[in-house]
Amino acid sequence: MEPNITTIASGLEKVRARIKEVAEKAGRQPGDIVLLAASKTNPADCIQAAFDAGQTIFGENYVQEALTKIAALTDLPIEWHFIGPIQSNKTRRIAESFAWVHSVDRKKIADRLSKDRPEALPPLQVCLQLNVSGEDSKSGVTPEEIADLAAHVIELPRLKLRGLMAIPELTKATALQRSQFRMLKEAYNRLKEAGYDLDTISMGMSEDLDVAIEEGATMVRVGTAIFGPRRYPIPEELAPR
Ligand SMILES: *Cc1c(COP(=O)(O)O)cnc(C)c1O
Repeated sequence: MEPNITTIASGLEKVRARIKEVAEKAGRQPGDIVLLAASKTNPADCIQAAFDAGQTIFGENYVQEALTKIAALTDLPIEWHFIGPIQSNKTRRIAESFAWVHSVDRKKIADRLSKDRPEALPPLQVCLQLNVSGEDSKSGVTPEEIADLAAHVIELPRLKLRGLMAIPELTKATALQRSQFRMLKEAYNRLKEAGYDLDTISMGMSEDLDVAIEEGATMVRVGTAIFGPRRYPIPEELAPR
């Protein structure tokens, strides 16, 4: 048995309870918030344990690692989401194996994902990643660039634009965190007002999901609070950013 596989069901239970509590306090329906289990570094049997506890949506960051797990769990009706930085030589494998991509942040990547999406599959569901921290090192487009990228993506035949995603700067300062989530929500609202048919605001992780839900998240991406500490350190070029 993996060291913490036995705690996965209870971890999930706690996260679900937290989502329900925070949502209700914020006057929202808990059912309006989708839980994505961010499973990077956790092997297939950990994903199986979460699946057995009722979790069907999983997010992965590293193509190679994800493909191994997707192959191992091919019999399960799992919805796989790609949430990591996208290298352009990986778009084919992402387009072939995932239902969703949260981290689209350039036209070139969007073009390639659309071109590489197999005809036999439904359109790839995508979110555009917004840089809400203003740090140069972070992935994502600026609030000024988002409308242009959205206008481009909406024209691509094999992509379906669903919403926006962000990874705020990690900070204990709740006010700063809140302002970054609010920036994502406002960008989302502006696109909606411009006529885009969107339904997804992907924000909130183990450390900040309460604030994210208060600020309007419709999908939270939770790893550590479900699976425990990551199994190995994340290579710099693949870390969430
Ligand atoms: C790892 C990861 C998460 C989950 O992070 P935790 O802090 O473990 O909950 C969410 N989003 C992205 C993009 C990630 O890479």
